Amino acid sequence: MLCTRCGWPSDEARVLSTHHTSQGWVRYRRCVCGNVAIELVTLGPAAGTQVEPLREPAESAL
Ligand SMILES: [Zn+2]
Repeated sequence: MLCTRCGWPSDEARVLSTHHTSQGWVRYRRCVCGNVAIELVTLGPAAGTQVEPLREPAESAL
């Protein structure tokens, strides 16, 4: 998954926090450009770990 703003690989972005939810793990990352992205990490029984992009949060939401 790439940053929607600068295209930097989000795997290299700093993890701000991770929260467990009923759907899996929600992970907040801040890119080198300052963009914050939310990932939903689900543990599928067949496909293994999947990372799905969620909506972009507003900076003030954090
Ligand atoms: Zn970026």
